[in-house]
Amino acid sequence: MSAPATWNIASVRDSLLTKKASAREITQDFFRRIEARNPELNAYLALSPERALAAADRADAAVAKGATAESLPPLAGVPIAVKDVLSTKGVPTTCGSKILEPYIPAYDATAIERLEAAGAVILGKANCDEFAMGSSNENSAYGPVRNPISPDRVPGGSSGGSAAIVAAGLAVASLGTDTGGSIRQPGAFCGIPALMPTYGRVSRYGLIAFASSLDRIGPFTTNVDDAATILKIMAGHDPNDSTSAPVPVSDYPAEARQDLSGMRIGVPEDYFGAGLDPEVKAKVQASIALLDKLGATRVPLKMPHTDYAIATYYIVATAEASSNLARFDGVRYGIRVTGNTLTDMYRTTRETGFGPEVKRRIMLGTYALSAGYYDAYYLRAQKVRALVARDFSDAFEKVDAIVTPTTPTPAFKLGEKTADPLQMYLADIYTVTGSLAGVPGMSIPCGKTAAGLPIGLQIFGPHFGEGKILRLARGFEQAGGFTI
Ligand code: GLN
Repeated sequence: MSAPATWNIASVRDSLLTKKASAREITQDFFRRIEARNPELNAYLALSPERALAAADRADAAVAKGATAESLPPLAGVPIAVKDVLSTKGVPTTCGSKILEPYIPAYDATAIERLEAAGAVILGKANCDEFAMGSSNENSAYGPVRNPISPDRVPGGSSGGSAAIVAAGLAVASLGTDTGGSIRQPGAFCGIPALMPTYGRVSRYGLIAFASSLDRIGPFTTNVDDAATILKIMAGHDPNDSTSAPVPVSDYPAEARQDLSGMRIGVPEDYFGAGLDPEVKAKVQASIALLDKLGATRVPLKMPHTDYAIATYYIVATAEASSNLARFDGVRYGIRVTGNTLTDMYRTTRETGFGPEVKRRIMLGTYALSAGYYDAYYLRAQKVRALVARDFSDAFEKVDAIVTPTTPTPAFKLGEKTADPLQMYLADIYTVTGSLAGVPGMSIPCGKTAAGLPIGLQIFGPHFGEGKILRLARGFEQAGGFTI
């Protein structure tokens, strides 16, 4: 087998159907690549070779029985990595934390179950910030991940491992989670498409919660078609997650293939102010000009509550985290450090098991929810959240999609922001708005800086409007926008 440098879903299927390579050979090729590159990148925390090879063998058996392009399952033999906040039956799941050790889930997250049922080969678990809290992957208890494009830089976070894996060709696709930007920002930093679906589009069953009203699961891929295919497979109601929406699942790959003529794209001036790196700004503006040329109509927008989104997000998300993480008390899961009393045991377990950023979030969240502060912080944040959401619903009366930079700067250096949490939080300035509003958003590559660092273009769509986002993203990709 002569392996191409980068595989995608179509090339894996073609290899299988024309018998150029078996799924077992492709899977083994990926494990060899991982062995060669992972020691440097630290992107995988655990591998699941037995499970992967069993799935590969199922794909090969289907081909041996005469499967056709129509009958071969859509992800047959496609190697995929999953972020380590997603539960995987029989495979250790850490959430990038020490507090769960050793946790081997007894069941699979619905998103993973659906991918595997469609033939996917689950290679292993991707490193991430502890409990998905972070923007650089430096909060992982298992060490940072390096950006494969520029190894002295961060891959972004919190799904840094998932993004680095796909950018380095160590899986065809991966799953990440996005609460305030954790799919889109690492996608931008690593130069690959990264899709956050609408809140409720993909079941959260089996996702270990950070902030339940914000958490979403979505794919990293090397092209837009693969994102559309994976979303179609994962999306849809799940009786195990009451917040998963009973909205019909569209044929995303078909929607993505429509041309852009007649699309109205909103460009909010609020996303182009102080703090935006001039090289990022220039590429994003060139991208918007390309979309114009492809037949989209540009509509200037004002989204006046954008400035309040970071403060609002860091109250809502920490409040929910403080309550979600209360369950890690040494009684039911993971490590237990004994103490003289029950309270001592809780305290020493949590003191030992959680890292500094998680502790900071629990303290912030507990404070915002406590008597006397609840009205001033939590309740007010909920009201401002509604205003941010209204900016989006007002905008989507006039436009089909909103286009902005994904991040104010390209990937920063390892260690550059670790001493200053506020600087780190500001890395999410353009992504948290859509998180609060529950709308879908995608980051796609739009060229590089002079130093060769990837830049991301963010596209927001209306609730359940992933088809519109994918259509814009694919039109842009086909016109050469990724390397603009
Ligand atoms: N960087 C943001 C945070 O630290 C977003 C994280 C996420 O989306 N999981 O909360």
